[in-house]
Amino acid sequence: MQSWDVIIAGGGSAGLSAALSAARLGARTLLLERETKLGGMGVNALVHTFCGLFHPDVSRPWEWLNPGIPREIGQTMMERTGQIQPDLMGRVYVLRQHPGVFALVADEACAAEKSLTRLSGTEWIGLRQVEGGWEVDFVSRGVLKTCRARAMVDCSGDATGARWLGKEFWIQAEPGRLYRPAYVCQLNGITGSHEDGWRLQTGAMIVKGIKAGDLPEAAMAAQFRDSPFAGEMFLTIDLEAGGAGWDPFDPQKRAEAEAEGRRAALGLWRYLRKHHADFAGSPPPVFPTQAGIRETARYRGDVFVTGDQLAACTRFEDEAALAGWPMEKRENARGPKFRFFDEPRPAGIPAGCLRNARLPGLYFAGRCLSADHEALASLRVMGTCMATGEAAGRMASGHAART
Ligand SMILES: Cc1cc2nc3c(=O)[nH]c(=O)nc-3n(C[C@H](O)[C@H](O)[C@H](O)COP(=O)(O)OP(=O)(O)OC[C@H]3O[C@@H](n4cnc5c(N)ncnc54)[C@H](O)[C@@H]3O)c2cc1C
Repeated sequence: MQSWDVIIAGGGSAGLSAALSAARLGARTLLLERETKLGGMGVNALVHTFCGLFHPDVSRPWEWLNPGIPREIGQTMMERTGQIQPDLMGRVYVLRQHPGVFALVADEACAAEKSLTRLSGTEWIGLRQVEGGWEVDFVSRGVLKTCRARAMVDCSGDATGARWLGKEFWIQAEPGRLYRPAYVCQLNGITGSHEDGWRLQTGAMIVKGIKAGDLPEAAMAAQFRDSPFAGEMFLTIDLEAGGAGWDPFDPQKRAEAEAEGRRAALGLWRYLRKHHADFAGSPPPVFPTQAGIRETARYRGDVFVTGDQLAACTRFEDEAALAGWPMEKRENARGPKFRFFDEPRPAGIPAGCLRNARLPGLYFAGRCLSADHEALASLRVMGTCMATGEAAGRMASGHAART
């Protein structure tokens, strides 16, 4: 059986950063990713803006919030996409990111680390606490394997390890409140400039299509965002996906959500091609590998960060990273409800919400971290996930070096 210093499960924003940070500190690190590309939702669900990378005070010029890997990935994204600054959108700075570029940047960053091994197409399927660390089962391209690690970081986005370890370690909001899934697709060959007037006109056209019965109700919440590359846009459609009966762990409901998303996106593309001159030459949409899942389950760690703490810009002695994105609550498909921090200052994310003293050597980051439903609405964004991932990777490599 192979032994590693650190195993990271999940190679999204958090897992990529955790793997890079552990490997750069010298830990022999294994990164397991179910899909064939790293980047998580930012690649496989085509989520196309990095939020949480910048200081929340927009009355000042933009500045990076967390140094280290979030800044490194953000800077590389800017260079590769030709952006010299983030976009100011109301009260927040955001950086447009390109899923294809993110996948490449992730590959290159990992390939540069000699002590990091990546296994893509690899599903993590089991976890046991053993003498001196953790035993991890996975299926890699059809082959069942078990490895050992002194430390482990769960960056699966779903608190997968916590669900195996027992109810006392995991938290999930009630189904009706879970942040709604959404379907994002990439549209090419779109002409015109997409200012506010364009959005209003396109929105009015969609409402007309819904009233005439030519478009599904889901099209009402359609959002268009320009890619950093000319002629390309991303279309996001929020899904009700079963309403109060939504269960992101039910395979059938997940499959239905994917199919609903594809139907809605294709219907909208067909309708706009017919009625909107700017879409007339657009080829069929590029579908994502998976629908975007905003919330599933989290760990219960030593500390449980709450929305009220974030709003009060609370700082902690054992701070692992900083949060600056407002709580963007999407409990239905009618758009977000924002709760901004009381002051335009960052809040701290304590190290205690990335570990549980009863699980030595096990860490969690990204969407898996220990926080309430409201705090997750801020902490789940990719810039913040990179920061918590980097911190968890550092903690895991420190643990491995000590044991
Ligand atoms: C529709 C939508 C819009 C969003 N908009 C924005 C936005 O504009 N800006 C922003 O910053 N954030 C946005 N987010 C949030 C953000 O994309 C996610 O919260 C973030 O990607 C979470 O990062 P993560 O690394 O924790 O998890 P993920 O990105 O979910 O990555 C988890 C990774 O783990 C892998 N994995 C899971 N289970 C296993 C397993 N058993 N074995 C192996 N691998 C496994 C998955 O394949 C995945 O690659 C949005 C999310 C959605 C769904």
